[in-house]
Amino acid sequence: MSAAAVGLGKMVDNKQIIFKGYIEQRAPEETDMEVKVGNKMKLEAPKGSGAILVKNLYLSCDPYMRARMRDFHGSYFPPFVPHSVVEGFGVSKIIDSDNPNFKGGEFVAGFTGWEEYTLIYKTEQLRKVEPDHRIPLSYHIGLLGMPGFTAYAGFYEVCSPKKNEYVFVSAASGAVGQLVGQLAKLHGCYVVGSAGSSAKVGLLKKELGFDDAFNYKEEGDLDAALKRYFPEGIDIYFENVGGAMLEAVLQNMRVNGRIAVCGMVSQHSMSDPDGVRNLFNLVPKRIRMQGFLQSDFLHLYPRFLEEVGSLYKQGKIKYVEDRNEGLQTGPTAFAGLFSGKNTGKQVICVAHE
Ligand code: NAP
Repeated sequence: MSAAAVGLGKMVDNKQIIFKGYIEQRAPEETDMEVKVGNKMKLEAPKGSGAILVKNLYLSCDPYMRARMRDFHGSYFPPFVPHSVVEGFGVSKIIDSDNPNFKGGEFVAGFTGWEEYTLIYKTEQLRKVEPDHRIPLSYHIGLLGMPGFTAYAGFYEVCSPKKNEYVFVSAASGAVGQLVGQLAKLHGCYVVGSAGSSAKVGLLKKELGFDDAFNYKEEGDLDAALKRYFPEGIDIYFENVGGAMLEAVLQNMRVNGRIAVCGMVSQHSMSDPDGVRNLFNLVPKRIRMQGFLQSDFLHLYPRFLEEVGSLYKQGKIKYVEDRNEGLQTGPTAFAGLFSGKNTGKQVICVAHE
């Protein structure tokens, strides 16, 4: 790639998505971020900076970003800075490099800005991506990125699965849930997923190989629904949503069951989060309920890339993306996560290579 071809040294108008300010007890709305045009940027990695200049291709909308919209510094991620560019996972192409470990023309996945071009100084958190015509580049923020790795680490390391066990996954059609269910099927488990629309339920059963699935919004009594889908009880619950679903699951767990608490998307924006009234189930049923962060397991990332990449290339797993075209769609796409507008991994396509 020649310097002229990428316009090195040229001034460009770098469109950006700006975080407007902290929000407390409500779901994010598209107006919490705004599109900014007119930000001039020189296309070069400044000499002596150690930075790389990237063109962002795909950006990831993830539920954890909601926590960064709060003025709270005690979490595992610092809050966003008001009036600054939103930060998130992305797949990007290097335009210029002042870092000997990176070259122009290479692709990287990792933290970047919600903008067309970003100068990345913290290059140690980046992972190089080798283009492979069998795997879409955008999968490096989905199937082979943080959400896919969460599914892999959570299922194998936290759920301690055994063949023929009964597995329940909530938010099952999402970025994490869809892979958990497919890994559980490959492991020889019986898998049921819950999701928020009949289209998502159809996807789980017809495309993603779940044994069964149901629309939790149409079930007045979640306990009764789980008794119907799991007449013998649940061995493993992969928890993505929290609230009423968790209570219903606790009623239906089997002895020695495991609950991997991956997330509780229903609780993120509540001023008064739901209590769990039936935790005593943990005692007679000897249930292990364990929260985890995917980052606890990063030493497994190379193995994950190898195994899951290979399963995908062999056609043994599928991955569903919900792609929005254009950086300006980011705020709406992100807010949509909290009302279930996304079907599959929510991705923003900023540019096609
Ligand atoms: P996702 O499922 O792709 O998107 C969020 C989905 O959550 C929505 O599509 C919606 O699906 C569901 N949802 C939204 N509001 C809900 C509510 N009030 N009640 C029930 N369901 C609701 O997101 P993801 O990236 O796969 O993340 C899934 C969970 O994993 C989240 O809790 C996230 O925070 C967590 N996570 C944890 C880690 C970790 O390291 N522990 C890493 C990544 C993600 P429906 O249409 O089905 O309602």
